[in-house]
Amino acid sequence: MKQYKFWFATGSQDLYGDECLAHVAEHSQKIVEHLNKSGMLPYEIVWKPTFITNELIRKTFNEANADEECAGVITWMHTFSPAKSWILGLQEYRKPLMHLHTQFNEEIPYDTIDMDFMNENQSAHGDREYGHIVSRMGIERKVIVGHWADENVIKRIASWMRTAIGIMESSHIRVVRVADNMRNVAVTEGDKVEAQIKFGWEIDAYPVNEIAEYVADTGKADVDTLVEEYYDKYEILLEGRDPEEFKRHVAVQAQIELGFERFLKEKNYQAIVTHFGDLGALKQLPGLAIQRLMEKGYGFGGEGDWKTAAMVRLMKIMTAGMKDAKGTSFMEDYTYNLVPGKEGILQAHMLEVCPTISEGPIGIKVTPLSMGDREDPARLVFTSKTGKGIATSLVDLGNRFRLIINTVDCKKVEKPMPKLPVATAFWTPEPSLATGAEAWILAGGAHHTAFTYDLTAEQMGDWAAAMGIEVVYIDKDTTIRSLKNEMLWNSVAFR
Ligand code: MN
Repeated sequence: MKQYKFWFATGSQDLYGDECLAHVAEHSQKIVEHLNKSGMLPYEIVWKPTFITNELIRKTFNEANADEECAGVITWMHTFSPAKSWILGLQEYRKPLMHLHTQFNEEIPYDTIDMDFMNENQSAHGDREYGHIVSRMGIERKVIVGHWADENVIKRIASWMRTAIGIMESSHIRVVRVADNMRNVAVTEGDKVEAQIKFGWEIDAYPVNEIAEYVADTGKADVDTLVEEYYDKYEILLEGRDPEEFKRHVAVQAQIELGFERFLKEKNYQAIVTHFGDLGALKQLPGLAIQRLMEKGYGFGGEGDWKTAAMVRLMKIMTAGMKDAKGTSFMEDYTYNLVPGKEGILQAHMLEVCPTISEGPIGIKVTPLSMGDREDPARLVFTSKTGKGIATSLVDLGNRFRLIINTVDCKKVEKPMPKLPVATAFWTPEPSLATGAEAWILAGGAHHTAFTYDLTAEQMGDWAAAMGIEVVYIDKDTTIRSLKNEMLWNSVAFR
């Protein structure tokens, strides 16, 4: 990824004299310096000279457009800044926009305040004028309110920066489909042309045997080295299988990991879909191999699900470099626990769950797939971390995309599941299993999700808004009555 930066643009005008403008510049430089030194921001902020005339505003926004490292502009009106001056610049600006509604001083200086001070420090006034024109022009932006030194404000800026990176990087996501959508399945389908228009995603199909050739061409020495790495890193759970036969099965996945990764790198793809029913010359359904590729940051979707594959990749980019990240994975709603007070959904997939979400030891098992016609595939097995996360589903409703975002509470299952040979998570959707699942089904959400512990519903919702698509949140505030109304109104808004 690029070394992204954000520009800080302070608005003013020349009515108040040079001394006032010198203060404006000094204050905004101090703010930028403080934010950069806070250690809380994932990306650097670059201070820009005060925006005063429409010529300078237009010029700077166009420079931001052209600068490959600029991921967005943070705007703030220190004084009043007549907003007609901003129209042309905003019209031509194409990157993420934030409006930091702050003020240099935290407290009113009761003893000394006079009209000069008021004119110099009137964000409450100037930011309303600026906010009005952005709203009137219908431009999507983030508004963050509060004193710039407040940690919660800085946290929100940091959080929005990751959304902005998602907006910038979305158009660089390229998904390779090594098989088509699973026959007769509806929810994993979608309009790929519209997805490219809306999100910038390129989704290309290849015959499965073209990638299988890359797998076959992988050298034995490389495979052996990778198998050794697996045996060092993971617990080998033979469960009565012959150790040599087990290792041969594991080696097939090592070969797939190496072959697939070379294919993805050579052809510049960052996400991949497979389909258990269309494996060509591959000896096993890619399991362990896909789990490892997801861990490295590739997106994945099962059964040809390119929408979820691209979403997983997007969320991997948005969380890149995050300290103490808990993980991001492709996931599938599988089976329920309906016992009152212990309700939840067991999450898994046939094989392909990303080990970034694991907690505790990771093992390798080789067991039959019970679907398809190939060898028993090797897979990583583990359970997942506890805590809040979000499950997202991007669906194509025929005339529009809808992103459904459900806040979920991940828990440990009550007992181990020794006979289940797949990695799992277990969560209770907000506001409860009954209302959460009812809302999800009414919204048309899929069984596949892109799941993460490390992003919030707000971040993904802001991303979707920037893409110009519908967002449906399911969380502690959801009621079925209001959700149904919201979707009814959305159906008119997105007609
Ligand atoms: Mn599936």
